[in-house]
Amino acid sequence: MTDATDGWAEVADRVFQRRYNPCDVTVTAVAGADGLMVVDTRCSLAEARELREHLREVSAAPVRWVVNTHVHFDHVWGNAEFAAPRQVPPAQFWGSAEMIAELRGAATDPEALAFKASVTAKSEKWRARMAELEEYVPENAVHGAHDLDLGDGRVVRMRQVGRGHTDGDLVLHVPDADVLLMGDLLEVSGDPAFGPDSFPLEWAPTLDAALALAGPATRYVPGHGETTDASFVRSQRDAIAAVAAQCRALHAAGVPVDEALAAGEWPYEREALDNAVKRAFLHLGQ
Ligand SMILES: [Zn+2]
Repeated sequence: MTDATDGWAEVADRVFQRRYNPCDVTVTAVAGADGLMVVDTRCSLAEARELREHLREVSAAPVRWVVNTHVHFDHVWGNAEFAAPRQVPPAQFWGSAEMIAELRGAATDPEALAFKASVTAKSEKWRARMAELEEYVPENAVHGAHDLDLGDGRVVRMRQVGRGHTDGDLVLHVPDADVLLMGDLLEVSGDPAFGPDSFPLEWAPTLDAALALAGPATRYVPGHGETTDASFVRSQRDAIAAVAAQCRALHAAGVPVDEALAAGEWPYEREALDNAVKRAFLHLGQ
């Protein structure tokens, strides 16, 4: 399997999405008069070098901005390709304040170190990729909201509308193109990923807040999968709300956390909801 999938799709005016393996991760390029914005950077520097080549198919303009939607490896491990010394002048990097704190901590966090060791052990290819890994941390933090001007009146609104997939999810709104870049708050090619750092009880209200930024014809670019519309976002929101409601009901009934998964009715495969239940019970107070 090649690392690239189907090429760039212009999902809105001068907003280009491309899906990449591994992880079927979305990279989005937003073209402005002053340069290109790249949103998320894939899983390794080697992949980011390929991404840089592919960006030339979109525009010859330099990459002036890089934004990470959240801290997970498949969205940030290519960052350093767009920073000095690999890119001069470097891009300006942005992420939520929470995401930045977490990425800083990943250098010493035992769980993050164990994860990196497991990736390194996967294959010779990954050993080589991990050997050159540099976890480049964005130097510009979004605290709730910040707008970037890409030139000629094109504005990208970076917004934290709540927690869900992580505590530092960033949504990007390009109003002139009527498109929202959702990161992993929205997944189309798979079910939403409830990880050990997720906020299952807050996720649905966060999606409501994202929907409130947009209009009836707005396009939504997920962290994984094809660009979609508001009705898909609403249906995923309803399923996530159902997970939260089931967790609340089981918790209120006094069901122990380690029995809750088996006892509940769920809109997704049970095996995928282990962390959802653990996190929900933690947040409800066990
Ligand atoms: Zn993620």
